[in-house]
Amino acid sequence: MFLDLLDAGHEKYSLIKLEREDVESFVRTSSCPTCNSARSPQKIATIGGSSWQTGLEVSECVDCKVLFYRNPPSESRILDYYSNHWNSTRGEIGDVSTLGLSVNRKIADLLSQLGLTGKNQTILDVGCGYGGMMAGLSSVGYKQVYGLEQSGHRRLVATDRFPNRIFKGGYQDCRPNIHFDVIYSNHVLEHIHRPFEAFRWMVEHVREDGIIIIVVPNNAWEPVVDQLMFVPHLHSFGKSSIARMADSLGYQTMFWHGSPKPHEICAVCFKTGHLDINELTARNFAEDKKEDTNSFCNENSRFYNFFYPDKQLDDGGHRLINWPTNSHRVKSLVQSEASFIDLDPKYKTLIRALLWRRRLGLKYKIFLRGERVINRTLATHNREVPDYNYLICSTTTGESNDLRLGIRDDFAPVFIK
Ligand SMILES: [Zn+2]
Repeated sequence: MFLDLLDAGHEKYSLIKLEREDVESFVRTSSCPTCNSARSPQKIATIGGSSWQTGLEVSECVDCKVLFYRNPPSESRILDYYSNHWNSTRGEIGDVSTLGLSVNRKIADLLSQLGLTGKNQTILDVGCGYGGMMAGLSSVGYKQVYGLEQSGHRRLVATDRFPNRIFKGGYQDCRPNIHFDVIYSNHVLEHIHRPFEAFRWMVEHVREDGIIIIVVPNNAWEPVVDQLMFVPHLHSFGKSSIARMADSLGYQTMFWHGSPKPHEICAVCFKTGHLDINELTARNFAEDKKEDTNSFCNENSRFYNFFYPDKQLDDGGHRLINWPTNSHRVKSLVQSEASFIDLDPKYKTLIRALLWRRRLGLKYKIFLRGERVINRTLATHNREVPDYNYLICSTTTGESNDLRLGIRDDFAPVFIK
């Protein structure tokens, strides 16, 4: 099921093929995986071959605005991916003491700004990876730091650094016999099948007066194609997604604005009365749940802006959208200017060259640059080129929520990192 097909750009990508039979076997969720709302979500797009009866449905919760797959790959398949495949192609990791130095003080800084400086607090990292943030906490004196990790090769490294402090597996497997003062999770919830259940587990394992810190990518800043098609990120959160999830289990949320990564959501969740809101507001925290907006992503319209930059599609029409061969190029495509002048014969020559480049496996930079130009040109001019990667983006009824993405009839292309 996992095929290494691409090695474009400076990161190694592989491609997951979701076959028609796979997608047909996926089970639809009956409630929102983040806030547990039972209200019907709004369908945003369907990923799959153009003739499939069933595709992978990208939906948005009408209550908490999280974007998620209505019929995701099964939990066992996701767990198997993170346990055995994820990142395993990145090779040996040298000296662990240097890992993650740039960001591993983040949680320590956050605790300091919360005034939680007692060094004997018990702290749990849910999805601790190589133990980088645990190391950041240790380096400023926190003594009782624990982690749990699903990925086998990451857990080995973390256990080396923190013997007897790393629990094996995901939260479902973990039954610690203490209640923690602080439980945090950094860029993990978007990979978990049901964030609501993970958060409930945290609530069960944190002290009554403890705090839960949730850090996730902010969907206002994620490239649209990643949100739609990067399946291992099962969810794409806004601030209200996290706040509503916490609220449904009796927790209040404040957002920290002191992260070294300004485009992520850093939510601090606690039982009302356990932190002084006024004091935190005077520092770097805010209760405001208003979503971020920016030039290319603006709440719901972010999808339509991307797919229909100029105008609505005609009824029954379809538009070809380029399928750039890695996410970096998707990002630059989304974030750069969309307009382009007439398709010129010279592009046809370049396309032929690019196709030969692909057949021969060449990776010259000049070709990569040319490919970006071609991608944009094809997208703008609704052109089809045989053998060239592209997405079919069609509406069958003219309804904007009946968007279908796929490559020909063969398979749905989805990137994994
Ligand atoms: Zn929801």
